[in-house]
Order: sequence, then structure tokens, then C-alpha cells
Amino acid sequence: MLNSLLLFIFLTAIFADPQPEPPISLYDVHERYRDPIIEDRRFKHNDILTALSALPDTFHQSIIGHSVEGRSIHLVSIGEGPIDVLLWSQMHGNEPTATMAILDIFRFFAASDEFDALRQLIISNCTLHFIPMLNPDGAERFQRRNANGVDLNRDALRLQNPESRILKRIRDSLQADWGFNLHDQSRYYAAGTDQPFTASISFLAPAYNRQKSTNIKREDAMQLIGLMNRTLQKYIPNKVGKYNDTFEPRAFGDNIQKWGTRTILIETGGLKDDPEKQELRRLNFTILMKAFEGIASGAYEDVSRSEYLRLPYNRYNSFHDLILREVIVPKGNEKYTFDIAFRRLEKPYNNYRSFYPVGNVSDLGDLSTSFAYTDLPAAGLIAEPAKVYPQAIAQADQVKALDLWKQLQEGYLIYRLTGSAPEKEQYHRIPIGFLGSEQNYISEIQLETNPTLLLKKNNAIQFVVVNGYLYDLREGRTAFESYLQGKL
Ligand SMILES: [Zn+2]
Repeated sequence: MLNSLLLFIFLTAIFADPQPEPPISLYDVHERYRDPIIEDRRFKHNDILTALSALPDTFHQSIIGHSVEGRSIHLVSIGEGPIDVLLWSQMHGNEPTATMAILDIFRFFAASDEFDALRQLIISNCTLHFIPMLNPDGAERFQRRNANGVDLNRDALRLQNPESRILKRIRDSLQADWGFNLHDQSRYYAAGTDQPFTASISFLAPAYNRQKSTNIKREDAMQLIGLMNRTLQKYIPNKVGKYNDTFEPRAFGDNIQKWGTRTILIETGGLKDDPEKQELRRLNFTILMKAFEGIASGAYEDVSRSEYLRLPYNRYNSFHDLILREVIVPKGNEKYTFDIAFRRLEKPYNNYRSFYPVGNVSDLGDLSTSFAYTDLPAAGLIAEPAKVYPQAIAQADQVKALDLWKQLQEGYLIYRLTGSAPEKEQYHRIPIGFLGSEQNYISEIQLETNPTLLLKKNNAIQFVVVNGYLYDLREGRTAFESYLQGKL
């Protein structure tokens, strides 16, 4: 009897849910904490200062040094627990997604609501230390490297740059238990080799030696990644990759792992229909909060490292913005069947605060092992370069006086101006092109050109490609004019 009573108590203990899940997830309510100052990827050091100045006194803030050009670098700490967790973002100036998520995490910890128990769990077990924007000079120019032109992630040993020395000093002074090395990677990585999945988030538990050995701390990092991955798979199934773990002796992640901090690299890639990475920001917020919870509760200990090891490797260069599949390309007397891929490069303006995209043929030939954000099965369609309209016009908006649809049927989709070409930032996203009086138009479909293409079937135009964007004209004039609506 006593035995069965004990068994009953035992079973109740193990099957009881000690902490019932809140009815809503942090992902669902991210908007509540989203810092409204930051709306796109090209925010600057000044925006960070504004965000930090709004934080309450419960945050411990200090300036831990200055960049090459004298911009302040900040450490923000929350909590009083014994586990020290250090996060640094934007070591590469043009990799800002995690910085956005960190500002949202600050607002989460400044708030009080039905997640108070979670806040309490984290801050009583951990002290979280954030360095948001380690490379503010790079961010100012939206470039990877710092103002000296150095990749800080190759300066972990020589420590020749102030930003590198700051990170090393803070890591050493905290002897941090956990480290989060927060980056963005190209949006052209795929997760795995066989399926059209972007590597929207990639993880790495970096190696600490050339043999890629695994010690207990590296294994802990793998287990915590496994926990974060479970959350990610709910929102972006299959779009999670694992970074190559070749040891890089000059990199911070590898060395910080070597110096005894359980290190996790998070690389944010691309996600369809998320050019400013606002959904990816939300996912960064969600998985970092999941990581803090897992560290505080020890839940990561129950995750097998095989969940990390099973993640597909991310594969560079296998995604494009657009692929036209099996299109017929007439050249001279020959006709070729090619896949044509485009990427859109970012050209900055407004002092690096904004950009406009410029189309670019990124590959052609048999691209059956490559994928695209927009993938057009185009077998049987003929790709024909558009022609330049024979009369030059004075102003771009004067094209409104022409019957553009009618000219398109004659093959004209590019308009020459008597002066210089109009600003591309205004006219990059319409299905017609402009040229300045002196400007060459390269119509050839070749690597690194930006041809304007008509895709025809039985002599009827079904699609056009302008500046690397695809426009569907199967509905005829109405569709064409709707793309131009309000843009001229
Ligand atoms: Zn990076």
C-alpha cells in the first residue's frame, strides 16, 4: 500500500506540469515590445543612443570604449543571477538584425505583464550583458568592416582595433558562461542542398581547435541550439541551417569558445517577403528569449546534441532573387535553352541610410541545383531584349503622355531622356526603364548585366523582367498599368 502510494506521488510529480505554458507565446506578442524607432536595417549609432536613453534604471549601462572614429560602444546589463551571458551584435556593420532584436529584448525586460514569471526566472538566475552594435563606424557606412577597413572577426588574436580589444576585455572580465555572437549572412544561402529552403537562421557551436573536438561546454552550446531550433521550426520549418565548423584561428567565436565561454553563433539570412528583416528580427527576439529561459531553467540539458548535428549545412550561392527556368535565348542564328538567374544588389544613397536595388544576372545555364525567391517555370517562352524608344523625352514623367502599353507591343520598354537619367531610387520598381542621354544600354544576357527582357509566347508578351524584377503581364494592359499606378 505504501509502495503504491509512493508510486502515485512519484508519478504525479513527474507528470505534473510544473510551469504551465502561458496561453500566448512571445512570438505572438513581439509587437508589444518592438522598438518603434527602428523600422529598417539601416539604422545608425544615433538610433542606438536614443533607444538606450529611454531605458529605466533597472538596466546597468556603461560606455566600455570607443570605435576608431570615436563612437561610443555600450554595455547594457540586466539581472542579478550568477550565470553571466554575454551577447554582442553588429561586429559587422551591415549585419543589424540581432541589434534590432536586442532593442526589443530591452523593452521586454522594461515591461511588466503576464510574462513576469519568465522575467523573474531569467533575471534571478542570469545576468545578461549586451553589446549592441560593436562596430558603429561600419554601421554608419552599412559595411562589414570597421573604419580601418579591417574585418574585426579576424582580429581576435592580434587585437589591433579598439572594437576588438573592447570585446576581449569584456569577455575576460566577466569570464562569461555563455556567449552569443550575432551576425547576418547573405540572403543567398540555402538550408541543405536538395530543397528550395532559405537558410533564414543558421547556427554554429564554433570549434575551439583544428580537430573540431567537442568538450562539455561546446556540447552545452549544441544542446542550447537544439532548444532554439525547436522553437524556430514552428515558425520557419526547414529554413534553419548549420554553419560549417572549420576552425578559424583569428575569429572571435572560435576563440571565445576556446577561452571557456559556451559560444553560439547565430547568422540571420534571408526570408521571402521580408526585405527589411522585420520578421527575422521577431524570430531573433523569440529564440534569444528561448535561450535565456533555457539557460535559466537548465532545460537545454534535456536536449540531445544530435538535434543540432542533424541540422542541414547551409550552402552559399545557391539562392537567387529570380530564376527564369528553361527560357529560350536567341543569339545570332542560334537558340539556347538557359535558366537565367538575377540578384538585386543594394546601392546606397542618402548617406548610406537608404538603398535601391539594381538587377544583375547572377548566373545562367543549367541552374537546376539552384533556387530562387521567385522561381518562374518559363519553358517555351522566348527571352527577347527590350528596345529603346526612338524619341528622347525631357522628363521621366512625360512618359505618361505616351501609350506605354502600345509601345511595349512594339518592343519598347526603355525610354531615353535628353538630360541625365532620373534618380534610380525613385524608379527602380516599375516595369519600364530610363536611360540618360549618354548612357549605354547593354541588352545582352550575360553575367553581371542588367538586361530588360520581354518573355514571349506565340509573339505575345507574357512577362517582362526590368531591373531584376519579374512582372506578370498575362492579364494584359490592366496588369501593366496597375504596376505603374502612382509610380510615375
Ligand atoms: Zn558577420
